[in-house]
Amino acid sequence: MATKTPSTLRIGYRYRPGRLAEKYDAIVIGSGMSGLTSAALLSDLGWKVCVLEQHYTAGGFTHSYERNGYEWDVGVHYIGEVGAKTGTRKMFDYLSGGNLHWAPMDDEYDRFYIGDKVFNAVAGKDEYRDNLIRQFPREEIAIDRYLRLLAKAGSALRAYGMKRSFGFWHYLLMWPYLLWKSSRFLFRNTYDVLSELTSDQDLIAVLCGQWGDMGLPPRQSTFLVHSMIVRHYLHGGYYPIGGSWRIADSIIPKIQAAGGEVFTYAAVENIVVEEGKVRGVLMKDGHRIECPCVISSAGVGNTFQKLLPADIAEHAGYKRKLQNVEPSIAHLGVYIGLKSTAEKLGLPKTNFWIYPDNDYDAAVERFVNNENEPFPVVYISFPSAKDPNYLERHPGTATIEIVAPAPYQWFEKWRDKTWGKRGDDYDAFKAELGERLMNHLYDKLPGLRGKVDYYEVSTPLSTNWFSGYQHGELYGLSHTPTRMQQKWLRPKTTIPGLWLTGQDILTCGVTGAMMAGMLTTTSIVGMRKMAPLLKRIYS
Ligand SMILES: Cc1cc2nc3c(=O)[nH]c(=O)nc-3n(C[C@H](O)[C@H](O)[C@H](O)COP(=O)(O)OP(=O)(O)OC[C@H]3O[C@@H](n4cnc5c(N)ncnc54)[C@H](O)[C@@H]3O)c2cc1C
Repeated sequence: MATKTPSTLRIGYRYRPGRLAEKYDAIVIGSGMSGLTSAALLSDLGWKVCVLEQHYTAGGFTHSYERNGYEWDVGVHYIGEVGAKTGTRKMFDYLSGGNLHWAPMDDEYDRFYIGDKVFNAVAGKDEYRDNLIRQFPREEIAIDRYLRLLAKAGSALRAYGMKRSFGFWHYLLMWPYLLWKSSRFLFRNTYDVLSELTSDQDLIAVLCGQWGDMGLPPRQSTFLVHSMIVRHYLHGGYYPIGGSWRIADSIIPKIQAAGGEVFTYAAVENIVVEEGKVRGVLMKDGHRIECPCVISSAGVGNTFQKLLPADIAEHAGYKRKLQNVEPSIAHLGVYIGLKSTAEKLGLPKTNFWIYPDNDYDAAVERFVNNENEPFPVVYISFPSAKDPNYLERHPGTATIEIVAPAPYQWFEKWRDKTWGKRGDDYDAFKAELGERLMNHLYDKLPGLRGKVDYYEVSTPLSTNWFSGYQHGELYGLSHTPTRMQQKWLRPKTTIPGLWLTGQDILTCGVTGAMMAGMLTTTSIVGMRKMAPLLKRIYS
């Protein structure tokens, strides 16, 4: 039975060939939310699952790390739909055996600084509406029409997910329902849909104030994903008590209980395909693990360009299909530690979104073409303020995180250098970008000047190094209208025994990845076997 490594933030069991069981029913590549969800659900159906994670800790983007007495999350700032017994909450409760708890953020969960104006989003459907109308009193009709569109998008989103997991006969049977629920407006770009409701550019900017949650500004994103995100947070934002690493920590026992394991430092080099079928994986250390069922949550780019032999990926048509999708933008992260508590420093449980003006698309374009232009969005989050247990782990301290987009190309020249040793020019560039981001923090909270004890900056190369995304992408594939209509982005591949899961087959977000894990499990075992389990989860 596995034990944790000495630090509580290193979860999972260190891989050694000798620690593997003789036989597994499935191998999952990657231990992010989607990989763990697939593994846990299969485990509950009696499968023995081996999860292989290349990083030193399990969790993918839900992992946290410690340095200098502080703890930061890398890819979780807030999660919606967990404040009541929603489907999302029931799935989290089930996977974690009821051991994952949630703390609500302030009612004002998102604050938008747009140029010199300040707007916000508040928790609760009616409260959200009334608050918008207070901010835009002349736009009541547009706001109500917008909320009706969001409601329509809700059931269409479910149909979208179902389509991804159905086999041919199921699809045929459900086709009238799916057709009824599919709407073309979902695949239009967000700006076009919204500009038919209103010409108020500030209102459009506020409605799209969370565009950073999927990485595409309104003229490039699909209304489908926009509406999914707004709906997700409509009843407020929540934070996993104890930190985001608790997500993986609470799910792993389910996998172990069925005889499976989550291995860290376990980089998969290749997916082994022989005679047209998956036979297992080849590890980076040369060890081969036999298994007829391999689920990849490592992203479709990695799966088809790196893990599968090139001739097989090409023969199966994936090389051509990949030309229709592109990586999402990459990001910078600033991880800040302060030697005082969130309460004493007055840090809010509200995310800040800082924009130079209300034309998000133009700001992105200016910035990607010229690094000296203002950041098109700066996102600031206050994790220690959100976590009621933080001080038990790190007494007398507080943390802040900043996220901002940054093209991978700016960093590409250092890609072959080792983490921590990329040279003075890289360090100087990073420091300059970090300083600019820190100034945004001081601009909004001037009282913090002189109180920061430590901060460090991550770049797209850090994302590449720790999470394996080839272009340091923030959210896997870019959520463009074209990507969202790619029918091949589904769990079942054309290579027998190879399955996909993760943010690339549905949408980004911890919940998106969790639902992808559920769809993948359903696709593998079939609806007949899955239905009783789903009934247990959702009853
Ligand atoms: C800065 C940032 C902030 C975010 N904030 C939020 C938020 O507030 N709320 C929210 O809901 N979502 C947020 N997200 C998005 C969310 O974290 C992700 O969409 C989601 O966690 C992705 O899960 P996944 O399972 O698809 O992939 P991942 O979590 O990326 O898991 C894939 C795993 O595969 C592993 N892997 C890759 N290649 C190999 C290999 N060859 N061998 C073994 N293992 C391999 C990787 O190391 C990784 O652990 C954020 C993301 C980022 C980057």
